[in-house]
Amino acid sequence: MRYLITGGAGFIGSHLADELLSRGHRVHVLDDLSTGSIANIAHLKPRPDFEYTIDSCESPSVVAELVDESDVIYHLAAAVGVELIVQSPVRTIETNVRCTEVVLDRANRKQKPVFIASTSEVYGKSPALPFQEEGDLVLGATSKGRWAYACSKAIDEFLAIAYWRERKLPTVVARLFNTVGPRQTGRYGMVIPNFVRQALAGQPITVYGDGAQQRCFCHVHDVVQALAGIMEHEEAYGEVFNIGAEEEISMLKLAERVRDRADSDSEIVLLPYDQAYGPGFEDMARRIPDLTKINAVLGWAPQRTLDEILDDVLDHQRAGAGA
Ligand code: UDP
Repeated sequence: MRYLITGGAGFIGSHLADELLSRGHRVHVLDDLSTGSIANIAHLKPRPDFEYTIDSCESPSVVAELVDESDVIYHLAAAVGVELIVQSPVRTIETNVRCTEVVLDRANRKQKPVFIASTSEVYGKSPALPFQEEGDLVLGATSKGRWAYACSKAIDEFLAIAYWRERKLPTVVARLFNTVGPRQTGRYGMVIPNFVRQALAGQPITVYGDGAQQRCFCHVHDVVQALAGIMEHEEAYGEVFNIGAEEEISMLKLAERVRDRADSDSEIVLLPYDQAYGPGFEDMARRIPDLTKINAVLGWAPQRTLDEILDDVLDHQRAGAGA
């Protein structure tokens, strides 16, 4: 099969490219390198079954040509990272909505199945843990920039589901929970690459808020197994799936765990949200996926532990790959 991956030079996209190639498929990556990096796909360049195009997936002609040459499209291109969203809301909203419109429209003309990457952010402040795909989305006021990301992704989801229901375009949506591993950059605020970088440099590890907020972290190698598998299941068309891990940890505990595994003597400091993200920032206290649905279709559950994730990120940064 021939796969097109938009955002394929990004953290998750490049691991998905590795996975699909290892399964014997051909891969074409489309990426504008806005948050992705050519270093993420440098190892793939010599392969005859791999191609890439550096361009924007907002361009209908570029997308049309690549869709023509593909059997299935993975749409991962998006503006991601809470920091980027707070700092560049126009870019976030426009990129996330426009790219998905273009990809779905062009894929629909050729009836090529599309995978749409969404995010656990869409559950917002919902207290209904663990989050189920059919649960309500509870977002904050439009004056609070963070929620723009969730809203833009929710529109992407609505559009993908509408294409399936109204036009019979096969689409699958996955809500990715906190995904971590080698190649993830801390530049856009992601917590584990940040903590690891700080611990290795002996700098203070900055925990935002009171550090009691909890997250579940899933290894990117587990995540791409689910992504690669899900498009092979017709019963997944028109459906939304959670993908992530269920092991919760507080950010304070995470900072301690990173410091221990890095053998670092960094101090751990609390930084108020206002200082980290600017005034009026809202964080969510907890976020846990219900994995019943993905497990039923794919028999998938994450295999790697948090310690394995931390060790892989530590190795990656120690190898000089940076954060
Ligand atoms: N966070 C932190 N220190 C950092 C970066 C993030 O304490 O240097 C916190 C952040 O406020 C959030 C959690 O870590 O509560 C996870 O943040 P991330 O941006 O990785 O993902 P999110 O779950 O917010 O999408």
